[in-house]
Amino acid sequence: MKSGGMMSAPLFPFDNSYARLPEHFYARLSPTSVKEPRLIKLNESLARELGLDPEKLTTPEAIEVFAGNRVPEGAAPLAQAYAGHQFAGFVPQLGDGRAILLGEVIDKNGSPRDIQLKGAGPTPFSRRGDGRAALGPVIREYIVSEAMAALGIPTTRALAAVTTGEWVMREEPLPGAVLTRVAASHIRVGTFQFFAARSDVAGLKALADYVIVRHYPEAKDAVKPYRALLDGVIRRQAQLIARWMLVGFIHGVMNTDNMTVSGETIDYGPCAFMDAFHPETVYSAIDQRGRYAYENQPGIAAWNLARFAETLLPLLDPDRDTAIKDAEDALAAFGLHFETAYAKGFCAKLGLLKPRATDEALAQDLLERMDAGNADFTLTFRGLCDATADAAHDDDVARLFADSSAFHNWAPRWRARLAEEGGDADACRASMRSVNPAYIPRNHLVAEVIAAATLNDYQPFERLNAVLAHPYDDQRGDDQTGFERYMLPPEAHEVVHQTFCGT
Ligand code: AMP
Ligand code: MG
Repeated sequence: MKSGGMMSAPLFPFDNSYARLPEHFYARLSPTSVKEPRLIKLNESLARELGLDPEKLTTPEAIEVFAGNRVPEGAAPLAQAYAGHQFAGFVPQLGDGRAILLGEVIDKNGSPRDIQLKGAGPTPFSRRGDGRAALGPVIREYIVSEAMAALGIPTTRALAAVTTGEWVMREEPLPGAVLTRVAASHIRVGTFQFFAARSDVAGLKALADYVIVRHYPEAKDAVKPYRALLDGVIRRQAQLIARWMLVGFIHGVMNTDNMTVSGETIDYGPCAFMDAFHPETVYSAIDQRGRYAYENQPGIAAWNLARFAETLLPLLDPDRDTAIKDAEDALAAFGLHFETAYAKGFCAKLGLLKPRATDEALAQDLLERMDAGNADFTLTFRGLCDATADAAHDDDVARLFADSSAFHNWAPRWRARLAEEGGDADACRASMRSVNPAYIPRNHLVAEVIAAATLNDYQPFERLNAVLAHPYDDQRGDDQTGFERYMLPPEAHEVVHQTFCGT
C-alpha cells in the first residue's frame, strides 16, 4: 500500500480516445483561468446518468474544473480542428475557438460521452474571438438543450454552468460564463471537411474509422463500411430534423460545422421555438436571407449531407465514378427517411396511429390554416389532445385562430378520420399528449430568465428548467395557476423578434 493514505477517486474517470488520434486532429492546451468561479447550476440527473457523483461536483475543486481553473486528473485537454460551410461559404479552418474537450466518460449505458468546456478561453482556432462566452448564451444553451432532451430529441446536454467573475466585451460588457457541454461526440460534418479540404486521405480514414467504432459499430461489418457510415449519418440526421419540425424548433445556424455525425442537435446559438406557426420564420439576426428558416431545414440538412458525402468519396470506392454513384444513392434516401419520420410523427400528433397516404393532405390543410390564422403551433396541437375525446373542446382550439371558423371547418374531417382508426378516445388522447408538449422554451421566457440572471437572480432559471423537464405533463404551481404562463405565447409587448449568436 502507498504511504500517505487513500487516494481519492478522480472527479471524472476519463478516457481520452480523441487525444489518441493523430496530433493534427487538434491542439493540446489547457483552459485559461478565470477570476472568480461561481457555480450557478449543476445538472444532477445528468451527472448520475454519466455515472458521476453529483455531490462531488459541487465542491470547490469541481467548480474550479467547470470554470477551467483546474485541469482534472486524467484529462487530456484539447481543442478540436474542423472546417465548415458557413452560410454556404467554405471556411477551411474553423475549429474549437472557445471550447476545450477535457475527455470522455463512459455513461450508465456504456456509451462514451464528451465532457467539454465552452467559453474556456482562447485556442489556436480562435481567430479574432476572445474564447469566451457570455452568461446569456450559456443560460440559453442550458435551457434549450435540456428542454430538447426532455422532449426526447437527440441533443448535446448541459452538465454545469458557472460564472467567471469577469466581463466579456460584446456590443456591451456582459458577465462571462462557462458551460460544461456533454455530447455523444463533438465530431461534425465540418470535421470531415477539415481533412477533405487538405486532401488528407489518411486523416479522413482515421476519422471515419473512429466514428464507425464510436457511433456506427454496425457499419464495421458491412460490405462497404464507409457507405454504411454515410447511410447511417443520413438516416439519423433525417430523423433528427423531422423531430425539430414536429416541435417547431428552428436551429438558426445550420452550418456544416454545427451538424454532428452522431445525429445529436448541437450549437444552440440563435435557435428558437416558433410561437405562431409560419413556415418562413427566421429569428437569427445574422440570417438576413432566411437561409435557415423553419421550412428550409430539411433542404439545408440534405445540402449539408451532400457536403459530408463529398468528403467520403476517396473512401467510398477506389473508382471515382462508382464512389460518386454510391454517394448519390445514399443521398437519395434522405428524402424518404425524412418524409417517413415526419409523416409518422405528424400523424401521431393528430392521434392517427395507423397512417394513411391521405393524412398528409389533412395535416397540410391544418398547417395552412394555422399559418393564415396566426395560430400558436404548440398550443394548437396540445389543444387537439383534449378535443379528441370531446368535441366540446373544439372552441378552445378554434380560439387560437384569428378566424375560429378556420379550425371549425377543418375539425369534422379530422374527427371522421379519427373515427376510422376505431381506437379508444382516452387512449388516443393519452398518446397524443405524449407527443404534443405543453411546455417549450419560448423565446420570451428564455429572455426573461436571462434578464433576471444578469441581475444575479437565478430563481426564474431554476423554475423554467423545472417546468421544461416535464414538457408533456400538465403542471400546476402552488397557487394552482402559476404554471399557466409557461404555456402561453408572449403578449404583444413580450414578443422576441430576433435572436443572436452571442459570439
Ligand atoms: P458558431 O457560429 O458559434 O458555431 O462558431 C463558429 C466558429 O467561431 C467556431 O469555430 C467557434 O469556435 C468560433 N467562435 C465563436 N465564438 C467565439 C469566441 N467568442 N471566441 C473564439 N472563437 C469563437
Ligand atoms: Mg459552432
